[in-house]
Amino acid sequence: MAADINALADLRCPKCGGQLGGFPQDDACAGIRCLSCDYAVVTTNHNRPSFDPTPYDVWVDVGATDRLSVIAAVANALCIGVVAARQMLDAGSPVARGVNASEVQRLARLFRGLGLGVRVSPPFRWPLE
Ligand SMILES: [Zn+2]
Repeated sequence: MAADINALADLRCPKCGGQLGGFPQDDACAGIRCLSCDYAVVTTNHNRPSFDPTPYDVWVDVGATDRLSVIAAVANALCIGVVAARQMLDAGSPVARGVNASEVQRLARLFRGLGLGVRVSPPFRWPLE
């Protein structure tokens, strides 16, 4: 749905005749705007994580981290008991099921702060920042 910005190069602003341009891909706005004046045709940019309707499952990537530390970290992060956290990890269960993209990013930040990575399924198409 994103307009090809390069196709705008020959178009001119109807207000001042200036060159038209677009918005950065991750901007909250999508559309075209004049680079010289305040003319703009703008819509909400739906190509953002907050509009991604995909339900994601998230696993903690245990990796080489000490297992007990991982269990403690997961228990803390999810506000669940250590026993529940251990069962979850032993079973290879996701720490979150069917969550939206914004929640995936929140969890990724949370676990990265604890020194842990996450795996996401289906493949996550947004930055895990
Ligand atoms: Zn203009």
